[in-house]
Amino acid sequence: MLVHKFGGASINSPEGVCNLGEIVSKCDDKLIIVVSAMGKTTNMLEAVNTACFERNTDEILRILSGIEDYHCSMIDGLTETGSPVNGRLKSAIKYLIDKVISFTGENKNHDFDYCYGQIVSLGELLSSTIVNEYINSVIRKSELVDARTFIITDSLFREAGVYFDRTEKMLENAFPFRGNVNCYVTQGFIGSNLNGDTTTLGREGSDYSAAIIASLSGAGSLTIWKDVPGVLSADPKLFPDAILLPELSYKDAAELSYYGAQVMHQKTIKPLTNKNIPLFVRSFVDTGLPGTSISSKKRLRNTPVIATKKNQILISILPKDFSFALEDALIENLLILQRYRLKIHLIQSTPLCISLCVDDGRSTRLAIDELRINGLVQYNDDLELITIRNYTEKLIGKYSENREKLILQHDRSTVRILLRNEKHL
Ligand code: ASP
Ligand code: MG
Repeated sequence: MLVHKFGGASINSPEGVCNLGEIVSKCDDKLIIVVSAMGKTTNMLEAVNTACFERNTDEILRILSGIEDYHCSMIDGLTETGSPVNGRLKSAIKYLIDKVISFTGENKNHDFDYCYGQIVSLGELLSSTIVNEYINSVIRKSELVDARTFIITDSLFREAGVYFDRTEKMLENAFPFRGNVNCYVTQGFIGSNLNGDTTTLGREGSDYSAAIIASLSGAGSLTIWKDVPGVLSADPKLFPDAILLPELSYKDAAELSYYGAQVMHQKTIKPLTNKNIPLFVRSFVDTGLPGTSISSKKRLRNTPVIATKKNQILISILPKDFSFALEDALIENLLILQRYRLKIHLIQSTPLCISLCVDDGRSTRLAIDELRINGLVQYNDDLELITIRNYTEKLIGKYSENREKLILQHDRSTVRILLRNEKHL
């Protein structure tokens, strides 16, 4: 059995879904297909959640009607208008969207993160419904499985932690491959907590879902289909001389995704290493290309690899009274950041100051307000963090020249530079 995962960009148009169908039709193995939300649906649903939080009903309805139109045009592009399958799909989509509308109307629990799970999961529910129906009616017998029946998580909404033992147990019966069913479609990104509330695994979390499914069901491999030829040595939009990395070890891939390479969700690699399941990252644009293969054996040699994270903020925390015990202050402040689901990308400390680099955003600003209770907090925003693996002085110069460096850290193989955000290419 093989697991294939398709991201939002690969199924953002009827042609994309047909392309998925073609890939599936060329594969004789039993399959589990994991899909993300189509195109930019997740971003739009995040805006619905914000509107729900602000109780802005007009805005909720406006965005959801746009989402409905987009998915209906997908359905019209894939099936004949007026045909039974076309009608069936449109009512399935309407049903799912109406459920969210009534949730936003009736919901008295205005916890932002809880509502996020209930609202933003709609994207994957819509895409999986359409993809499954398309495969089942055009390509091969396929069934839809709701990921919330087997991905069991804690209640850390928006960044839920997966309970592996319970999930493994639920997975035993989730994909029975009975009768003539040899293909299943399910959602990435979503799960449910022990109360049955919908949770999400963090932005771009579908890769992680696919890795969990592949690992716990003992798949032969996981293939992630992307809009790039594989894992590249840098983002080609920023660094035109980026090259394809044909082979990587799990360790390399885990590090690169941590540093911000546009490879895959950070947590993807671990479940695969546990069972030694190979991961292939391939181009859905040119399915003939071999892509990148990631396994325990392969090693990244001396090729320089560049990863960038934009929209970073450097938060510096100073004690109010010079009484810093570094360890205590670190723990206290890290716990606050953890509560806001912030991932720390870089730490620097001096006897009187801890500086932490994280993604900027709504949660970050709320966390800063809370950090201010413990100490004086200053910050620099609109920063970019560049990491170069296998760096040379020349490369450091090339990418940081004429830019203000706030922090530069390096060891023998890796340099990390926090820079003011200026256009540099
Ligand atoms: N749809 C979710 C997102 O855009 C999950 C994913 O794409 O992996 O973040
Ligand atoms: Mg996505």
